[in-house]
Amino acid sequence: MNAHHQTFDAAVIGGGLVGKTAALALTQGGLRVALLAQPCAALAAGATFDSRVYALSSSSQALLERLRVWQALDLSKLGPVYDMRVYGDAHAELHFSAFQASVPQLAWIVESSVIERALDAALRFQPNLTWIDTRAQALDFTADGASVGLANGNVLEADLVVGADGAHSWVRAQIGSKMDRRDYKQTGVVANFKAEKPHSETAYQWFRDGEIIALLPMPDGHVSLVWSARTEHAEQLLALDPAQLAAEVERVTGEQFGALECVTPAQGFPLALQTVDKLVAPHVALVGDAAHLIHPLAGQGMNLGLRDVAALAETVAGKEAFRDLGDMVLLRRYERARREDIRALMIATDGLQKLFSAPGPFAKVLRNTGMAFVGAQPFIKRWLVSAALG
Ligand SMILES: Cc1cc2nc3c(=O)[nH]c(=O)nc-3n(C[C@H](O)[C@H](O)[C@H](O)COP(=O)(O)OP(=O)(O)OC[C@H]3O[C@@H](n4cnc5c(N)ncnc54)[C@H](O)[C@@H]3O)c2cc1C
Repeated sequence: MNAHHQTFDAAVIGGGLVGKTAALALTQGGLRVALLAQPCAALAAGATFDSRVYALSSSSQALLERLRVWQALDLSKLGPVYDMRVYGDAHAELHFSAFQASVPQLAWIVESSVIERALDAALRFQPNLTWIDTRAQALDFTADGASVGLANGNVLEADLVVGADGAHSWVRAQIGSKMDRRDYKQTGVVANFKAEKPHSETAYQWFRDGEIIALLPMPDGHVSLVWSARTEHAEQLLALDPAQLAAEVERVTGEQFGALECVTPAQGFPLALQTVDKLVAPHVALVGDAAHLIHPLAGQGMNLGLRDVAALAETVAGKEAFRDLGDMVLLRRYERARREDIRALMIATDGLQKLFSAPGPFAKVLRNTGMAFVGAQPFIKRWLVSAALG
């Protein structure tokens, strides 16, 4: 059977939130786009919450507003964060406040599927977007562009291929971009709970015995757990039944929210730092976790990926008429625009992870003294808040 060939300006490979946002941004910018992705999966029968929850910064909100996706989100599903309290492992405490930093909120907490459903709805309205629910399995280059072989036997021709296919990116391997991975030997255990006491729109984070426990405020009196636990400990946590897990979270957080009732099954995600030596190659650009992977302690991986999308869309919008979309002069502008932001977050998250997992009394004194120092410096705190907002 002959392969069916279709031609596009851009082909986005990977339908996580970053890939879907990239496809929407590029097609709203006037390009004919193919998106290789699956539609948002339905929640498990009887489930009212998604286990995957993100803290989105104002840079992500701004991008989703420009794409008219934010306006379509179900407001009752958005949880603002006005305060954040961070506890060290020796009584040091840091308090960040939206009020003190003169910003409307520090972040929004929102379930992954809430954003994905709004993205899917917006994508279906785009006249120049072709949604293909299959995987890419071959990538070849000609003088004019790239050709993507699909699992269904068809072939896409595109000037630009956007690799948005996650941490184990197949596109990244095809362009020979070298990836350096350091395993944190930790797993991020996530689950959501109904809380007995009000959370007052405050996010909490505890550094304990080299592990990090975060409880993020969600709408309707719920909280979302991200417990970055050593791998063996995470396996024990994931093996607990919902009531046992709730009791364990109550114990380690000093019953901050009173009794907890687990409302989503716990899930675990292995944590690692990944750096990539090039984000672009002729006719290819990487975005999202395909381009960088960081520890979730600052809740910034998705925000970083959405800032990649904003930068790529802006670079493409600024293209000179005589250039192709896959021209390396253009793509290097995107790479340069992203370098510092990615590097800064990698250094910050990796540094904090190392500082709080280092054993011994000296490291303990150092990190807690550091926290107390930062806590007493309103300028540093304001700077940290603005860096986190993107
Ligand atoms: C525990 C935890 C908590 C986190 N919390 C936050 C947070 O609060 N805030 C925040 O900003 N970030 C957070 N992050 C980071 C965030 O989850 C990631 O950065 C983000 O999900 C990356 O999205 P992505 O679209 O790049 O990749 P993915 O979500 O991995 O999507 C990649 C997609 O590509 C598809 N794919 C792969 N190969 C192919 C192929 N050959 N053809 C077609 N499709 C393909 C996959 O099926 C998948 O759908 C957290 C991470 C963890 C682990």
